[in-house]
Amino acid sequence: MSDYLIRVLSDKANVIGLSCRTTELVNLACRLHGTTPTASAALGRALTGGLLLGALTKPGLRVGLKFEGNGPLKKILVEADSEGTVRGFVGVPDIDVMVKDDGKLHVSGALGTKGFLTVFKDVGLDEPYQGIVKLRTGEIAEDIAYYFVESEQIPSAVGLGVYVETDGHVSAAGGFLIQTLPPSEDQTIDQLIVNIRKIGAVTHVLRDGKTPEELIGMLFEGIPFEILEKKGLSFRCTCNRDRIERVLISLGCKELTHLLEEHGEAEVGCEFCRAVYRFDRLDLEQLISDIECAVPRAGS
Ligand SMILES: [Zn+2]
Repeated sequence: MSDYLIRVLSDKANVIGLSCRTTELVNLACRLHGTTPTASAALGRALTGGLLLGALTKPGLRVGLKFEGNGPLKKILVEADSEGTVRGFVGVPDIDVMVKDDGKLHVSGALGTKGFLTVFKDVGLDEPYQGIVKLRTGEIAEDIAYYFVESEQIPSAVGLGVYVETDGHVSAAGGFLIQTLPPSEDQTIDQLIVNIRKIGAVTHVLRDGKTPEELIGMLFEGIPFEILEKKGLSFRCTCNRDRIERVLISLGCKELTHLLEEHGEAEVGCEFCRAVYRFDRLDLEQLISDIECAVPRAGS
């Protein structure tokens, strides 16, 4: 299990903590989408953040994060579930590499500092829950923490790190999320703040080869806790031919017939994983006849 997440609880102090390594899945996502380094860092942080949020949802439910900014990357869309799978993409994967003065990849420059973060949660009702906040910094981690405080009134600290090597591959990715639940002691919160400051950038901790267990150990230094769960993480798309067929069918008979007459075939790509589904003349004719069979003709 190279990518995994652990969930811990400090019973007495009312604090929950999540920590994860996502290096393999971020590499896979960046390869699939052909992202340039700054886009890789942005996508990697968002995927990792999505998995952290996913780990907080009830079994079987999904969570979606949509970052929209005024930068050249335009947007990042991520969807994760409670089982530890995630998928996602960025608006413009091949943006120019943007670097800050200190040499770090300029994620907020790519996404932009003006815009919105929308969090969607499938809460088992017809209408999914939606929370929208303004982007705080465009650096992803701070924006997610701000969402929790602003939209869910849960004090949270989030750290996300992605290290992209000069050859473009991701050598370290992961992050953490800490939430305090009422009633929480000031002393515990102060200790957490001290620990978080001491750690500095998550990227460095992960590049040093520290495991999620070691990262959480550093964050919870001086605060007793127990590990509740450890689970594997992966990039996995939920698209399949059936779903794409349903999208085509939703276009309606007229549109499909037009497609068939104009092009003789159809190609539909999945934005999340870049899979391409091909429908030849026979497939399209079959879909059209399926629609015609499903809709009773007038007078019949
Ligand atoms: Zn897909």
